[in-house]
Amino acid sequence: MPPQDILRRIFGYDAFRGPQQAIIDHVFGGGDALVLMPTGGGKSLCYQIPAIARQQAGHGTTIVVSPLIALMHDQVGALHEAGVEAAFLNSSLTGEDAAAVEKRLLRGELTLLYAAPERVTTPRFLAQLDALAERGQLALFAIDEAHCVSQWGHDFRPEYRALTVLHERYPGVPRIALTATADALTRADIVERLQLEQARQFVSSFDRPNIRYTIVEKKEPLAQLLRFIEREHPDDAGVVYCQSRKRVEETSAALVDAGLKSLPYHAGLPPEVRQENQNRFLREEGIVMVATIAFGMGIDKPDVRFVAHLDMPKNIEGYYQETGRAGRDGAAADAWMAYGLQDVVNQRRMIDESPAGEEFKQVMRGKLDALLALAEATDCRRVRLLGYFGEPSEPCGNCDNCLTPPVVWDGTDAARKLLSTIYRVHAASGLTFGTGHVMDIVRGKDTEKVKQFGHDKLSTFGLGKDYSEAQLRGVLRQLLATGAVGLHKVALENGHSFDTLCLAEGSRAVLKGDVPVLLRESTAAAPTKRARRGTVAAPAAQTLGVDEQVHYINLKTWRAEVAREHNLPAYVIFHDATLAEIARRRPQSLADLQGISGIGAKKLEAYGADVLRVVSEGN
Ligand code: ADP
Ligand code: ZN
Repeated sequence: MPPQDILRRIFGYDAFRGPQQAIIDHVFGGGDALVLMPTGGGKSLCYQIPAIARQQAGHGTTIVVSPLIALMHDQVGALHEAGVEAAFLNSSLTGEDAAAVEKRLLRGELTLLYAAPERVTTPRFLAQLDALAERGQLALFAIDEAHCVSQWGHDFRPEYRALTVLHERYPGVPRIALTATADALTRADIVERLQLEQARQFVSSFDRPNIRYTIVEKKEPLAQLLRFIEREHPDDAGVVYCQSRKRVEETSAALVDAGLKSLPYHAGLPPEVRQENQNRFLREEGIVMVATIAFGMGIDKPDVRFVAHLDMPKNIEGYYQETGRAGRDGAAADAWMAYGLQDVVNQRRMIDESPAGEEFKQVMRGKLDALLALAEATDCRRVRLLGYFGEPSEPCGNCDNCLTPPVVWDGTDAARKLLSTIYRVHAASGLTFGTGHVMDIVRGKDTEKVKQFGHDKLSTFGLGKDYSEAQLRGVLRQLLATGAVGLHKVALENGHSFDTLCLAEGSRAVLKGDVPVLLRESTAAAPTKRARRGTVAAPAAQTLGVDEQVHYINLKTWRAEVAREHNLPAYVIFHDATLAEIARRRPQSLADLQGISGIGAKKLEAYGADVLRVVSEGN
């Protein structure tokens, strides 16, 4: 079958996305490929379709190397649902089950075999590959999450280094390596480590147009988060990232109190609880997972509708990786972050206090600065994000700054007053002070502490009395973010310590007026739900009429039962978008069902009659 027919008949999709067709043709024809595609771009089909096509052409089995044991099960389950012969080999199988899979492999019954890298390079497994190769029955090697081979990637796995044996031992078998994250350095490293110098590179745009980026000023983070979820995503699945285990626990409990289905996930939980929570997130609907960054690698749930950050990540790579888990199905999704003064202080301090060498710290500071600039930005967030990855673009129309251009006020005068106060208190006494005290002086508050140090005598005392505390806090945050103000840790006698403010290198330019300090007006009222850009599909159910909603809900109930019976996530049976389309069309016959995106031949045969029954019962 030509690839186009495989796409339609087996996977039930009408058209290839982006560079899929070019990649598939190249690999089907026996070429090597390195594929860089953002999360949700559709990498799996890039090797699954050539695998099926090459098998049909008599070339045998495709070996898929994947580091994520938890995911192999769902991937193979999805292939089964589509009627493709696939299996996995990893440490979760009993010896007996593994032997059965090996037997099927050697008999040539498998189109795809998923295996962990440490398994692929064992002498035992290589001997089996030898046997297949001798008969010309090794169709393709697919190396997923290829960045794992590089120590510059974010998830280095030494076992990946040994995969060069595949190329050396079976030079005639084509290889396709795939990853969603690779800056130039990592990409070059992948090519070298996997000996892919001859491979054709397919680099997609890293834009995720369906994700709307929003960064709000952190005031009462929990209340802000709740408002965001209640307004934009009341019944949706989402992930909330927090920095510490404690905050994960507290936040998840608060969401449950507010009536949401929420579960915690962090490395401090027992492994079986973690596993259970992850399974429920994948299999049930509308769960909000509150997690540390321990959660998420390889989670390919397509209908995560939002990713929220209650604490700021370390750098843009992390932010992009985490937010990228939203909206893999291509429907509208949100990346929402609350960002405040304390985030800047915490992240700077974490770098300062890390045991790493000065050179490494300098790199980390540079990366943090880029993220801070993104958070402080008053222009298009996406232009900045893509620019960071070396991709030029135009204002997007689908981020907070594009949708509601912020009212900007000039904080330069306030900044000067703060800076000269920080300078003067130090000049007067040799001491440094924290943010609260400095702001009190500028605002002319004669607190105990102000009087105690005679700071009401300073020439800047009360010069900024017209500014609100929130305004000054915003200015200070930006001064810290841009490196005009630094932190100086002061130890107390009781063993605690606190951060105080000092002038840093960037202060001179601000004092001289060379660098303006522009801040967004902090709007007290939350904006109303905003319109989305026309080209981005709304989540499946949002566009349905009332009657159609009834069908949609019935279909979801039916799907949940099937998924439970098969021990698979619901989206493996049918995507939300497919159910919504069925609800809309109200098919009367199998012929009506055919051609709906996501219904291939096997699914039509397996579920067609049931779906028609569910629809007719709801009429
Ligand atoms: P990635 O691995 O790149 O993150 P996936 O391979 O998981 O992405 O694909 C993301 C989603 O898009 C999946 O649910 C997949 O079924 C769907 N998809 C991929 N290609 C197409 C296509 N050509 N038409 C419709 N849906 C597609
Ligand atoms: Zn924008």
